Amino acid sequence: MKLSELFAKEKPTLSFEVFPPKTDDLYEKVEQAALDIAKLSPDYMSVTYGAGGGTSKYTVSIAKDIERTYNVPTLAHLTCVSSSKETVREQLKKLRSEGIENILALRGDIPKDGAVSTDYKYASQLIEEIVDFGGFCIGGACYPEGHLESESLEQDIVNIGKKVEAGCSFLTTQMFFNNDILYDYIDKLHRKGIFVPIVAGIMPITNARQIMRSCELSGTVLPKRFIKIAERYGDNPAAMKQAGIAYATEQIIDLYASGIKNVHVYSMNKPDVAEQIQANLSEIIKG
Ligand code: FAD
Repeated sequence: MKLSELFAKEKPTLSFEVFPPKTDDLYEKVEQAALDIAKLSPDYMSVTYGAGGGTSKYTVSIAKDIERTYNVPTLAHLTCVSSSKETVREQLKKLRSEGIENILALRGDIPKDGAVSTDYKYASQLIEEIVDFGGFCIGGACYPEGHLESESLEQDIVNIGKKVEAGCSFLTTQMFFNNDILYDYIDKLHRKGIFVPIVAGIMPITNARQIMRSCELSGTVLPKRFIKIAERYGDNPAAMKQAGIAYATEQIIDLYASGIKNVHVYSMNKPDVAEQIQANLSEIIKG
C-alpha cells in the first residue's frame, strides 16, 4: 500500500521505526524485534538505511519480512550521500522486486572522512532519480528546528520546497520535544506553499544520556520539563523508561488533539515501548 493513500484518509495514523543491526550476528535479534513490533499492526513501519551505525544491507530484507509476515506496509529509507547512481538503481530494483512501495529519500549524514558521492549532493536529486525510476510513493525528512548545516530555518524551508517540487509527497520530522516548535514550523511551511502531509517524529526517551547527546548533535532543543525528568530518572533505567513513555504519550495526544494526523514513533527496535505507547493511545487512534 502506498502511504499517500493512508495519509489521505481521515483516521489518525501511528507508525513505528526499526533500524537494521550494526553487525551480522545481531540480525536475528533485530529481525525478531521488527516482527514483534509488526505484530501490533501499526499503520506502517519504517526501516532505516545505515542510520545510527546500522548497516544498509538488511533494509530490504527486514521490510520484506514485515510486509509478508504481518501485512504491515513499510517505508524503506534510502540515502545517497555515499552512493553512485548505479548503487541507487540496484537498490530501487531490489525494493521493486520485493513489492516495497514506499521510500524515505535522504541525503544521509556526510561521513567523517568527507568521502561523498559525486552523483548526489542533496536528497532532492535522489528524489528526482526515484521519480524517474517510477512506481514509488516518496517521502523526505524535515527539521522543525532547522537542519544543522543550514544557515537559517527559512533557507532550510526553501530547500524543503525543492524536495516537494522534485516529487516528495510527505515529510517526516526529526524528533522534537516541544510541540509548539512543530506548530510554528507547519505555519511557516504553509506560508511557503508547502502543504504535503507532515508526519510528526516522536522519540520516547528510554536512555537519557544517549538522547541528550544526539540532541546536542542535531541541535534539538530540550525543554526544562524534559531535562528535569532526564536528570531525576536518567540513572534508573526502569523509571526513565516509564517517564519517557509517559512524556511521548502526552506529546502525541496533544499532537492529535491539535490536528496533526500522522505520528511516527522512533521505537528504536523496542517492541515493549511500541506496545505501551500504542496501548496508551488505543481509543484515541480509532479516529
Ligand atoms: P537534504 O534534504 O539534502 O538537506 C541537507 C542539507 O542541505 C540541509 O541543510 C538543506 O537545507 C541543504 N540543501 C538541500 N537542498 C539544497 C540545495 N538545493 N541547495 C543548497 N542547500 C540545500 N540518515 C541515515 O543515514 N539513514 C536513515 O535511515 C535516516 N533516516 C532519517 C529519517 C528522518 C525522519 C530524518 C529527519 C533523518 C534521517 N536521517 C537518516 C538523517 C539524515 O540523513 C540527515 O539529517 C542528513 O544530514 C540530511 O538528510 P536530508 O535528506 O534531510 O538532506
